Amino acid sequence: MRVAIQGTVGSFSEAAARRRWPELEPVACHEVQDVVAAVRAGDADAGILPIENSLIGSVTSTYDLLQEAFGDGALRLTHEVMLAVHHTLMGLPGADLSGVRRVLSHPVALGQCRIWLGKYLPRAELVSAWDTAGSAEIVAREGNPALAAIAARHAAEAHGLVPLADRIEDDPSNQTRFLTFTQAEAPIPQSPSGPFKTSLIVCLDHKPGSLALTLQAFGARGVNVTALQSRPERSKPWTYRFYVDVAGAATDPRVAEALEEIEALAAEMVILGSYEAWPDGALRFATAVPTPAHHLKKPEVPLVDRRRNPEGTVVAVRDLVFGGESPVLIAGPCSVEAEAMILETAALVAEAGGDMLRGGAYKPRTSPYDFQGLGVKGLRYLARAREATGLPVVTEVLSWEEVPLVAHFADMLQIGARNMQNFSLLRAASRSGKPILLKRGAGATIEEWLMAAEYVLAEGNPNVVLCERGIRTFERATRHTLDLNAVALVRERTHLPVVVDPSHAAGVASLVAPLSLAALAAGACGLIVEVHPNPSAALSDGFQSLDPEQFAALAKQVHPARTQKPRVAVTA
Ligand code: PEP
Ligand code: MN
Repeated sequence: MRVAIQGTVGSFSEAAARRRWPELEPVACHEVQDVVAAVRAGDADAGILPIENSLIGSVTSTYDLLQEAFGDGALRLTHEVMLAVHHTLMGLPGADLSGVRRVLSHPVALGQCRIWLGKYLPRAELVSAWDTAGSAEIVAREGNPALAAIAARHAAEAHGLVPLADRIEDDPSNQTRFLTFTQAEAPIPQSPSGPFKTSLIVCLDHKPGSLALTLQAFGARGVNVTALQSRPERSKPWTYRFYVDVAGAATDPRVAEALEEIEALAAEMVILGSYEAWPDGALRFATAVPTPAHHLKKPEVPLVDRRRNPEGTVVAVRDLVFGGESPVLIAGPCSVEAEAMILETAALVAEAGGDMLRGGAYKPRTSPYDFQGLGVKGLRYLARAREATGLPVVTEVLSWEEVPLVAHFADMLQIGARNMQNFSLLRAASRSGKPILLKRGAGATIEEWLMAAEYVLAEGNPNVVLCERGIRTFERATRHTLDLNAVALVRERTHLPVVVDPSHAAGVASLVAPLSLAALAAGACGLIVEVHPNPSAALSDGFQSLDPEQFAALAKQVHPARTQKPRVAVTA
């Protein structure tokens, strides 16, 4: 195996290439472009390029070469190699550190030893050479004891020099990432087995959101972007190329879909290749992406089907269980309106014997002019209310982009009625790993509701609690019509627990208590009700919100044994 390396024998590129191919025959090249040329010309079977260093970042000379080198599809990346990089300062036998006046090395290596050089050789002249091992060769040839080179320790032996100082890199974790490549037609030099990465170049038009859309193409599908680099377009000032690395192979369905989308959007896209990732490289931060359900064989029995777990599934949210012995009483305002207001509501919910706090930070409102929720502030206030009362928090997430943010604060994610069939949201919510409260759409059939739950389960998250919240019928006397048929029926059809939201079903506070009791009688394992310290002043859904006394009365009926003693210490 002839492998083109930048630098001479003893260089870091050679050491990196040997980690993949211990028996290789090095083809020494002066510059990175010569490495590419050697492989194109067939003078080497493969090439290796340094791409990034953990201390100083990107090797820009490599990045700037990639589009030209790979743009015509003649070459493709094959492997990633990570190499721990330790530097040694070396000089002629008999030379002394105090006599060193000039230090030669590759500019990247000089950059990695800046702190050490500033401390021990502050007056030495730093001279960029084409290669680390090559600078050792120059020092040996010049025969001047005032000259020293920075290179790998084994380069000293290779060129008859002696180490003057070892491990002089600024950080002991110093590592360089290399990529190997071959001609596109060549067989893959080693059968790939490990996880893959894909690298691509994207050239974008200057339009708002075009970079975000590129990244979202991956984000929406749960594909982890492991690196992003931009480099200026040479002949077009203030325009940029973006270099993106993602976890997964270009043939993985999710990556393939994202690439198709990016290609449609970008002025230009070049796929540099999919290659075997280095096992303990940056990929360890990436989560594995399961194959999308529609690429798998359809299960004979849906994942939600009761036959899969006739005993019924129990969903845990912190120390609470849905589907256990005791009904779960979730209560709180429609929206989080202010910090004091949510703390006050949480305290009254806890004191009355409620189990969990609800409250919308992001509100789906019929009118765009209505209060839309406090957003991130609302999430923070909910987290403080949890701290103060010990009550776990459920809150609604409206769009897939906000799932990581909402999941960061919430114990359970609510998918609202209006979003029950927002499938990208369901997938992203599933991937968050948080338990999901899945409300039934006001116009959704039971089958559609269960299939929405199937989306969450198929994406890998088994923790779904269904929520019946009323459907739209011809009846106008109430906001919606609470479908208790559905509660009893889904208990037959699915093993997932089901709760009822009587507040949105009725739209009026006086009906909440009787509907709650009916729901429990029909088999619901819990309730989610709206309560507000002062319903007439509520910013949303005040008419259907219980006041503190009404809630305390309901809680007493739901948890008759508990209301004497608060379940949690209230410190708010
Ligand atoms: C809510 O719980 O505040 C809400 C908006 O509910 P739904 O999605 O059921 O309308
Ligand atoms: Mn509401």
